[in-house]
Amino acid sequence: MIKKISHIAIAVKNIEEVRNFYEEILGLRIEKIEEIPERKVKVAFIPIGETRIELVEPMSDDSPVKKFLEERGGGIHHISFEVKEIEKEIIRLKEKGIRLTSEKPERGAEGNLVCFIHPKSTYGVLIELNEKRE
Ligand code: ZN
Repeated sequence: MIKKISHIAIAVKNIEEVRNFYEEILGLRIEKIEEIPERKVKVAFIPIGETRIELVEPMSDDSPVKKFLEERGGGIHHISFEVKEIEKEIIRLKEKGIRLTSEKPERGAEGNLVCFIHPKSTYGVLIELNEKRE
C-alpha cells in the first residue's frame, strides 16, 4: 500500500556545487547528508512541506548514478513512494509480472528498506518503494 511521496530524487555531479542554488536561491535547507556505500551514493535531504528532495551524488565511477549523469547530464532520477510492508508489496508486484531491480528490499538512506521498480514496467519512471524504519 502506497502512503505518500517520500521524496523526489535528483541526480547531481556534486552536492556542494548545487547547494548554493537550493539554499541561497530557492531558500531551502539541506537538513542532512548521508553516504550510502552499499549503493555507491551520497545523498542530501531537503525538506519541503510533507515531502523532501533527495540530491543524489555518485560516490564512485562505477555508481549507477554516474552512468545516469553521463547519459542525461543530471535531472530527476527517481520518485520514492513510502509503503507499508515492502516485502508484501514486492511479492504482489512480482505476481503481476512487474520488473523490480532486486528480489528483496535493500538498505537505503536512514536505514530504510528500499526496492526499485524498473522503468520498463512503469512507462519510463524509476520508482522507489521505501519502508520507513523508526
Ligand atoms: Zn530515493
